[in-house]
Amino acid sequence: MATALMDAAVMNKPLDIEVKKISIPEPRANEALLKVYCIGVCGSDVHYYEHGKIGRYVVKEPIVLGHELAGQVVKVGSDVTHVTVGDRVAVEPGVTCGRCEYCKIGRYNLCPDVVFMATPPVDGAWAEYVTIRSDFLFKLPDSMSFEEGALLEPLSVGFHAMNRGKVTPADRIFVSGLGPIGLLAVQAAKMFGVSEIYASDVVPYRRQLGLEMGVTGVIDPLSENAKDKIAELTAGKGVTVVIESSGNQRAIADAVKVVNRGGRIVFVGMPAVNEIPLDVNQIIDGEIDVYGIFRYANTYPAAIQALGGSGVDIEKVITHKYALSEIKEAVEMARTQKDTSIKIMIYPDKENIQNK
Ligand SMILES: [Zn+2]
Ligand SMILES: [Zn+2]
Repeated sequence: MATALMDAAVMNKPLDIEVKKISIPEPRANEALLKVYCIGVCGSDVHYYEHGKIGRYVVKEPIVLGHELAGQVVKVGSDVTHVTVGDRVAVEPGVTCGRCEYCKIGRYNLCPDVVFMATPPVDGAWAEYVTIRSDFLFKLPDSMSFEEGALLEPLSVGFHAMNRGKVTPADRIFVSGLGPIGLLAVQAAKMFGVSEIYASDVVPYRRQLGLEMGVTGVIDPLSENAKDKIAELTAGKGVTVVIESSGNQRAIADAVKVVNRGGRIVFVGMPAVNEIPLDVNQIIDGEIDVYGIFRYANTYPAAIQALGGSGVDIEKVITHKYALSEIKEAVEMARTQKDTSIKIMIYPDKENIQNK
């Protein structure tokens, strides 16, 4: 029997990506087959496309990238019970072992045996169909769009940052870096009830988008001192939490100077170098709590519930929409127009592209 074929964007080697016909995967007993509705372009996808590796993960074989998706269940394996054909779902793209110490205590994002989509050698979902273990699928309420479903993945990073930073409505927050993760961290902060959110970015377009998406006041780190400007914007009160999402060395070092005594810092953005000097006396003397985050855990159900009815419009981060057949243009846009292409969404079926 001939297997049915689908379109998938295959990256052969860095800067070389093309849409090819490959076999539609068959779901195993505990998996579901999804028809992909839309799927985001992540910074990590662009990094693999440009450099062929991130840290210890190296692209050695042709790979399908993409891990921020939502779609519709079209087939389920024999053991699958909690989703059925026709369900609209978001995908949590890291399948964990469920047995190790980290999985058992609920910190499954630290599972050493995680199989994460679009992390070599695991294929991702820039394709018409994808299979995934069904317990990593989350049903979308009717009120939630597929686009919001796909954005749950990067939003989860912001949500996890709020959880790690023990953020409450009493906090005043500073987010450094307004790329997709920073902008979505701002949305997560709003969902956590935070009303004063300050943010910095070197790019005027991003600061403007931040203001449109609920940032209280913005800072240009090239011409303004973050600590002084925050003092001015908050009438001297300062911020209790810093979410560092730029990965910029100076912004990382500045975080301990910017946050109030007794405050918390969550490091999200990965710097290009491993070692950056921090004022440790300030951390000790000010009883500052410092957290790192790796992806996210236990965020999807909470984020789906918190987003519904919140009035928070996360879709504003989508700046461009492309058909899967235009994948080359899409990743080139993401690679070369980093300042103004915040989140690019890919549609395997171009009929689904609205308000391009
Ligand atoms: Zn991502
Ligand atoms: Zn595990």
